[in-house]
Amino acid sequence: MAAQLPYATMHDIFTRFHAAEPEPKGELHHTNAFTLLVAVALSAQATDKGVNRATAGLFAIADTPEKMLALGEEGLIEHIKTIGLYRNKAKNVIRLSQILVRDYGGQVPSSRAALQSLPGVGRKTANVVLNMWWHIPAQAVDTHIFRIGNRTGICPGKDVDTVERAIEDNVPAEFQQHAHHWLILHGRYICTARKPRCADCLINDLCPFEDKTA
Ligand code: SF4
Repeated sequence: MAAQLPYATMHDIFTRFHAAEPEPKGELHHTNAFTLLVAVALSAQATDKGVNRATAGLFAIADTPEKMLALGEEGLIEHIKTIGLYRNKAKNVIRLSQILVRDYGGQVPSSRAALQSLPGVGRKTANVVLNMWWHIPAQAVDTHIFRIGNRTGICPGKDVDTVERAIEDNVPAEFQQHAHHWLILHGRYICTARKPRCADCLINDLCPFEDKTA
């Protein structure tokens, strides 16, 4: 695990991320808070591309909790059966739709506690919704962020909670809102797991990783 990078280096790194992509976006397709919540819940142990393929048809007919309940669990399964763990995910989406209708007037709540009380919604999913929909600088730590945080020292930690705190504590305030998207995209496309593309990396000179690729 690399040591936490100092403030000046962190500032330089995020200044470069910002210059290259001022408004980074998540890659899960959605049309409202509900479809974002469902898409994120479906994306656990699945790729964003795979989820987008499944939800293109699904969200055309079920973009609210009420319509999802009208579709029903078996109808939902027909749309998402290409996604891993689809039976369990379908159960959770139907149950969370019931709760949204019963307790929240069909709206997606905007607090982390309320989001995490929904079936199948953990801290990471809640943080994605808080960040992308409610524009709260919440940090959703996925496998990419965990890997590159420890590899580069941008946000090291032995578990995802520690990495989340490292981002909150060490990323300069002006970059907090978009930090998790910059890091996810960097990990997904440049600082990849097996063979990072160090020659194409815009923070190469700031990165202390010892096994950079040529
Ligand atoms: S230089 Fe290589 S290891 Fe360091 S952040 Fe860039 S891609 Fe990752």
